[in-house]
Amino acid sequence: MKIRILHKGFNFSQDGPGNRLVYHLQGCNFFCPWCSNPESIAFDGTLMRIDGKEKLSCTEYDTDEVFDEILSGKMMMFSGGGVTFTGGEPTVQFDALKILLEKCKNSGINTAIESNASHIKFCELSDLIDYMIVDLKHYDSEKHKDTIGSSNERTIKNIREVAKKRNQLLIHIPLIGNFNSSKEDALKFAELIKSFGNEKIDVEVLRYHEYGKDKWLQCNMEYKMESGNVTDEEYKDFTDILKKNGVSIIKT
Ligand code: SF4
Repeated sequence: MKIRILHKGFNFSQDGPGNRLVYHLQGCNFFCPWCSNPESIAFDGTLMRIDGKEKLSCTEYDTDEVFDEILSGKMMMFSGGGVTFTGGEPTVQFDALKILLEKCKNSGINTAIESNASHIKFCELSDLIDYMIVDLKHYDSEKHKDTIGSSNERTIKNIREVAKKRNQLLIHIPLIGNFNSSKEDALKFAELIKSFGNEKIDVEVLRYHEYGKDKWLQCNMEYKMESGNVTDEEYKDFTDILKKNGVSIIKT
């Protein structure tokens, strides 16, 4: 089966434990205006203009070829490392992703995923994933839909479902000014996360940054974020409220 990959390489931070071979898969069903990989959004790839030259954002491979690469990199997966699939949104290429997760699992390779958890069959993957990171961008469906283009209902349903049986689950909250960063927002996030009923859930709050801004221009798309910055005080207030309400906050 074919799979479109945006980029790939080893990384020792943020994408799961240890040294990991990280695959960024092409395609995303959300459209976050702060996305730092906007070239990853179009399902079939984005034509980027870099230094006057045009380049397609992704390359197509066969899943067998990708798995051979994973096997040959096994020695490098030290300190509890393995393979991570992120994006874009990795579940957009669900069948190819599942094949690779199954092959990794059968070969004893540690697997991780970072996902917006919105795919209808997302929960099917849970047993194949050792380290799961899900993005929870907002607790309110309307606000989620207004800003990102899709509601959060399936995401919340899926997180609730996988939380019932997982011993590990990391939730990423991207903290975006004028979107989800107020004290009231923090309380609502805490309420939602506690309602998942799993003491093993950790949360990492990731502050807005503009790292992807130039890429929007390279993709010939307008960067529409104007006021996403969050002050140190707002970040502290937000995380303090989560902690006070019994949410485990970590930094990876
Ligand atoms: S879900 Fe992630 S990859 Fe998709 S648009 Fe949002 S930030 Fe970008």
